[in-house]
Amino acid sequence: MQTLLQKPWHHVPGEEAATLLESDAELGLSQAEASRRQERFGPNSLTPKPGRGPLLRFLLQFHQPLIYILLASAAITAALQEWVDSSVIFGVVLVNAVVGFIQESKAENAISALTRIISTNSMVWRDGRRLGIPSEQLVPGDMVLLAAGDKVPADLRLLKTRELTVDESMLTGESLPATKHTDVLDLDTLLADRANMAYAGALVTTGQGSGIVVAIGDATETGRISRLIAAVDVLSTPLTRKIERFSKILLYAILGLAAFTVALGLARGETAFDMFMAAVALAVGAIPEGLPAAVTVTLAIGVSRMARRRAIIRKLPAVETLGSTTVICSDKTGTLTQNQMTVQRIFAGGEAFAVSGVGYAPHGEITRDGTPAEIVGALRECLLAGLLCNDASLEHKQGAWQVGGDPTEGALIVAALKAGLNAQEEHARRMRRDAVPFEARHQYMATLHSDGTIYLKGAVEKVLERCVAMLGPQGQIIPLDTGAIELSAVGMAEQGLRVLALAYKTPEGLQDMLGHEHLAENMVFLGLQGMIDPPRPEAVSAIKACHRAGIAVKMITGDHAITASAIAHAIALNDGRPIAVLSGRELENIGDAELIRVACDTQVFARVEPEQKLRLVKALQAGGQVVAMTGDGVNDAPALKQADIGVAMGITGTEVAKEAAAMVLTDDNFASIEAAVEEGRGVFDNLTKFIVWTLPTNFGEGLVITAAIVLGTALPILPVQILWINMTTAVLLGLTLAFEPIEKGIMNRPPRPPSLPLLTPAIMWRIGIVSALLLAGSFGLFMWELKHGHSLAYARTVAANVFVFGEIFYLLNCRSMSESILTLGVFSNLWVVGGVSAMIALQLLFTYLPAMNHWFGSAPIDGWAWGRIIATSAMIYLTIGVEKRLRKAAI
Ligand code: ADP
Ligand code: MG
Repeated sequence: MQTLLQKPWHHVPGEEAATLLESDAELGLSQAEASRRQERFGPNSLTPKPGRGPLLRFLLQFHQPLIYILLASAAITAALQEWVDSSVIFGVVLVNAVVGFIQESKAENAISALTRIISTNSMVWRDGRRLGIPSEQLVPGDMVLLAAGDKVPADLRLLKTRELTVDESMLTGESLPATKHTDVLDLDTLLADRANMAYAGALVTTGQGSGIVVAIGDATETGRISRLIAAVDVLSTPLTRKIERFSKILLYAILGLAAFTVALGLARGETAFDMFMAAVALAVGAIPEGLPAAVTVTLAIGVSRMARRRAIIRKLPAVETLGSTTVICSDKTGTLTQNQMTVQRIFAGGEAFAVSGVGYAPHGEITRDGTPAEIVGALRECLLAGLLCNDASLEHKQGAWQVGGDPTEGALIVAALKAGLNAQEEHARRMRRDAVPFEARHQYMATLHSDGTIYLKGAVEKVLERCVAMLGPQGQIIPLDTGAIELSAVGMAEQGLRVLALAYKTPEGLQDMLGHEHLAENMVFLGLQGMIDPPRPEAVSAIKACHRAGIAVKMITGDHAITASAIAHAIALNDGRPIAVLSGRELENIGDAELIRVACDTQVFARVEPEQKLRLVKALQAGGQVVAMTGDGVNDAPALKQADIGVAMGITGTEVAKEAAAMVLTDDNFASIEAAVEEGRGVFDNLTKFIVWTLPTNFGEGLVITAAIVLGTALPILPVQILWINMTTAVLLGLTLAFEPIEKGIMNRPPRPPSLPLLTPAIMWRIGIVSALLLAGSFGLFMWELKHGHSLAYARTVAANVFVFGEIFYLLNCRSMSESILTLGVFSNLWVVGGVSAMIALQLLFTYLPAMNHWFGSAPIDGWAWGRIIATSAMIYLTIGVEKRLRKAAI
């Protein structure tokens, strides 16, 4: 069989393909044979393309303008035979590269591991049974079923197709979906024209089909061409690019400043060597080395925190955008509600019935006016239609009743069983010949059975407009009473029930093909079934949290306007205020310009077709909103792509929707979107904290050097000391901010406008204050120690320690932009506690270890000097503490 797999399958007739692959077109493989083949052929997955090798990735760490400057400095100091300085600079560059390399790898691994969580399933025939299995387990010879929204899991020779069109752009570059059939093709047909094949990775845009697996994993066309899933640049987002640009501007500014000071010094008659060292000190001091790493780590931590809260990020920029979200447009069924359907009311033959019992256990009673109802006539036919026009299954597993498939359909099975219908017998009596599957666009589904009956079920309006008569209480055909039916439907919807209408007909001569054209007219109405779908309790609190956070929540549903608004009231969608409802039909008649306003003022959009979601997203965006939009179907993809955050459902979502989305919810729950927004805000917060913390050190150091040259004094801190400070504090102190837990009030603030610059005036103000204090503190103490007879090395050690301890104190300020550390709790971020302790230990080594004294030009200092250092540094903490208070009071 191994050699067989190389066959030109498009040139082989379908039945022959099944024979050659020792499979059965009807029954599929047996489980036993499938396991044997799996052992032999391995999993159906692509071997990841080896990304950049570790060596190259390590070398790339040196590919930064800043590092060039450092390397040049190291080379020149070496040429000047300043061996200590040169090797310290080299050492620091090396350590920086190692740390960067490790952090980057960790972050990338974490993120790419997450994307793999979202595994895909395939429908196959095994032992004659339809089975959902992870796509990884497919083997050659498997019979795979395809439906709109699926991703083709392996290379298939198609055996059955029905309006099947497939988007193969990943393979052929052709953006229009290709129409598929099953006929044999010429041997030399080009890949793009092989209409009887479906290739792995392609997306099913419409219709259905089935095919036999002819190649899996790396043997597929996709696998062969490219080993697609190359390691892309996963860590690039608008923010990282903004920061890159910022660093570049900073670099030029610093180079300019360095040139200026050097020129000034030379004019004053300083030696070229001294001025060169000053320029190096300025350059290494003023550049925030830790920034790129901090951004990477913070983003990666945010992504994994979101994953823990059931939101998987597929596109990294979403992490940032989430924090700015102003509107969340959510599906109703399953996202805001539990998708636990139970039929409670039936209307058939002009009479109203109640159904008792909860959940999916088929125990309950059908009553009319409080007395058990006789299951005859329209009532029986209505229940039977619900049972047979159905793709779901009900099973008793592990002590619980479970629905496989659509819960809406599961509820209909349960109702029929409660009435005492025998599912097996009824299915046997009327075998299914064909079906028109449910599609959100059509809002109905239909089945054709062996006795010629067609059942239709779907939205009330859709079914009713196709009916000409109805079935009476005794099973006789009577005139259609549209008024009574609509009245009953509205009554059910007002209680938040999801209403399905059922109808049938028995046309002559229809054999085994059912199409929409067969459903257009002459149907006989059977009845209505109304089911409750309780709201998710956690959605209620999540919506409340969104409102506090200045985020509007809108419901977009295919369900009836009255049902939708009843649910919207139950979950307080508009914070207790009146809820405005708009239907898809009304939406059609609103012009683009007017829609901008209407979309903002409406909370519930009902009977909306997926295609209309795109218009809504665009209108909201035109109104200045940052939109998160949920979706699960094939037709939701354009809206998901257009939205600022496309959110796909992990459980009920199609592959097409997941592919288009920026985020996937593993539990389909609205509350997870809210959680992700909260985490997104947290990420931005922590990044801001890092920037506010790190820049004053850089500016302070730059200022100290400039001041020394302008005033003509010795350098208060040497280049190697600056390097030491920047490297150790960035890792031990700065990065701990990435682990800062989310602040309590984070969801009480308005969303962050995306246009807001990273450095707002308030932030620049704070950076200015701290830079000035660091300058005054270190320069002042440096001069003071010199004046009191201490050595230059001693005074420099004091100045360097002012920077480090100033940063330690300031780090405590930076744990929150507004709250004091006493409110946050000293131990609420243990990383900070650990980082600070390690930093103090290192600083003692820096000050007292002879080897360190030799390398870094430091010297031991006495207790009084420490007292002065701590007092100066604590001043920073106090000043910023007061500043925070004042700012808060001003707000
Ligand atoms: P939503 O998911 O927003 O609640 P859907 O698009 O699933 O809305 O459903 C829209 C309407 O289509 C429902 O109100 C119902 O009348 C009908 N419908 C839903 N599911 C089915 C189904 N499985 N078969 C037939 N009709 C359905
Ligand atoms: Mg639905």
